[in-house]
Amino acid sequence: MKECAVTILSIIVFSVCIFLGINQIEKNISETVNSYNKSQFDNTVILDAGHGGEDGGAVAFDGTLEKDINLEICSAISLFFDIFGINYINIRTEDISVGDTTLETIKERKASDIYKRYDIINTTENSILLSIHQNMFSVEKYSGTQVFYAKSVDSSKNLAQCIQSSVVSSLQNNNKRSIKEGDKSIYLLYNAKRPSVLVECGFMSNMEELALLNNFEYRTKISYFIVSGLLEYLLSQKVV
Ligand SMILES: [Zn+2]
Repeated sequence: MKECAVTILSIIVFSVCIFLGINQIEKNISETVNSYNKSQFDNTVILDAGHGGEDGGAVAFDGTLEKDINLEICSAISLFFDIFGINYINIRTEDISVGDTTLETIKERKASDIYKRYDIINTTENSILLSIHQNMFSVEKYSGTQVFYAKSVDSSKNLAQCIQSSVVSSLQNNNKRSIKEGDKSIYLLYNAKRPSVLVECGFMSNMEELALLNNFEYRTKISYFIVSGLLEYLLSQKVV
């Protein structure tokens, strides 16, 4: 099992090197690791792959399910967390609902699922929520990552900005989206007690972006830049 993880890790690091260019990735990693070595992070990131089980999330025109892309991205993020020594807990690592599946109605089961996620965040010491989702809209033209944050916890906004800037400057130069406060419709952000962000990585309703989200190399890259933004936030918190 461990050997398998190491192999996957090597493949991912290799593909990031190939697709970003060896120099860029080496510079980026060495800068980050140098900074990291001076710090001791005591946070635990709650890595939340949105949806799962009977809740597929958004469904693309070709049948791609949001829950599957979310899981793939969280899997890549987990491996980068391993590289950088960041503590984390995965809400789910397989295609399951995390709530009580014996409840009678879908509404009850969905509520149970979200409360369970909320509970994991709030019972973990020094936790930070990183929730991964994909966007969907009725018009195809919209694309680009957008990070939402919890208004109730000040540092969430800084975390969201670090991630948005990291992804946009490295991968999406034409993305003009700004970070946005999570409203009532996003329970985990609206009721947050810990620094919390939700990353809408891309639009499944945009054919070009859907193809990217279905591509291993692109998912590896966006995962890397999400982690890079989060590291920048952790380092900024350390200085303060
Ligand atoms: Zn979603």
